[in-house]
Amino acid sequence: MIHKMLSNKCPNCGKGHIYNEKNIYFNFSKPRMNKECEHCGFAFEKEPGFFFGAMYVSYALGIAEAITVFVIGTFFFENTFDLRILPWIAITTLLLSSFNMRIARIIWIYILKDV
Ligand SMILES: [Zn+2]
Repeated sequence: MIHKMLSNKCPNCGKGHIYNEKNIYFNFSKPRMNKECEHCGFAFEKEPGFFFGAMYVSYALGIAEAITVFVIGTFFFENTFDLRILPWIAITTLLLSSFNMRIARIIWIYILKDV
């Protein structure tokens, strides 16, 4: 299932694509989503404002990534709470922000698939 998510596939049939773009990992242009699956017709956006909740997923991902960078950073800095880690956290979350936004919507679609 994780593989299907990361490959931008429809949760229903696993064949159609959710985003109408090749690169969903590092792409800072405006996301282009398909309204429904081109293969099985599954509606990705169930209702207007459906993706509001995906913001929380994106937020949680950002925090998880910040913690990961922080933990990795503790191996490189002598003090556990070395403030020099902060720019690295900022850069990482910035670089991953486009990915977070896209994958958050995909995760959201998968979570609410059967609702
Ligand atoms: Zn489908």
